[in-house]
Amino acid sequence: MPELPEVESLTGFLRERAVGRTVLGVDVVAFQALKTFDPPVTALGGLTVTGVSRHGKFIDLDCDGLHLIFHLARAGWLRWRDDLSGAKPVRPGKGPLAVRLRLAPDEEGLAPGFELTEAGTQKRLAVYVTKNPDDVPGVAALGPDPLDESFTVAALKRIVGGNRTQIKGLLRDQKIIAGIGNAYSDEVLHAAKMSPFKISATLTDAQIADLHEAIITTLRDAVERAHGLAAKDLKAEKKSGLRVHNRAGQPCDVCGDTIREVSFADSALQYCPTCQTGGKPLADRRLSRLLK
Ligand SMILES: [Zn+2]
Repeated sequence: MPELPEVESLTGFLRERAVGRTVLGVDVVAFQALKTFDPPVTALGGLTVTGVSRHGKFIDLDCDGLHLIFHLARAGWLRWRDDLSGAKPVRPGKGPLAVRLRLAPDEEGLAPGFELTEAGTQKRLAVYVTKNPDDVPGVAALGPDPLDESFTVAALKRIVGGNRTQIKGLLRDQKIIAGIGNAYSDEVLHAAKMSPFKISATLTDAQIADLHEAIITTLRDAVERAHGLAAKDLKAEKKSGLRVHNRAGQPCDVCGDTIREVSFADSALQYCPTCQTGGKPLADRRLSRLLK
């Protein structure tokens, strides 16, 4: 799933290519992806892209005040196309293509655009057309953006204070902090040398400061690495930059210990025992249930 750094990069990528151009049309192939019906997607035709911004993991294409907002979810992606003038209309129900946005041709006759695709059978990609981004429930409910100036150590202290959830879950909760998902929460906790199961409210002031530093550094580094990359190169870059996430069984590049994993029903987390849990492996609940 694309998280804050990849979405930030896609946002910049689209801003460079789409701002100032006229929208020719938006084709919705996967009807379940479109979550709004008024205004209709056809209202975007003829409007000019005036800005592209990010809200958490949402991308917001501002077209003369009408917003096309989308969330790529777990298996969604954005594919830029240099020329869609010869592209055939797509019938619903075939392949991963969900939405196609066509831009007006330039002087050379090339009509670029982009496609939102979604792999797999779980269709979670979501697209909204709205005059006000806050009408999108997921956007309205977002917590503070960790790359915003207002996300200070004091702000993080207010967030964790009194919160009895495990820190891994807190970091992933979009209503608490916007933009961090399963991958970067693993990375942040590894950088902070903190157990994913630690109860948020038990963090000391020093640990909150360390966690804050880990959040900012991890995300800024990832944003920097992803900056300027083409959409198609982002996935490989994300994978190569991860130190613990999806690396179970491999050595930790900080201490050399073997990275371990805890599995849940529909996800897994990875961590380094030496760096994060005093050398003790965490209980894998799924495994212990199986052994009973
Ligand atoms: Zn380690």
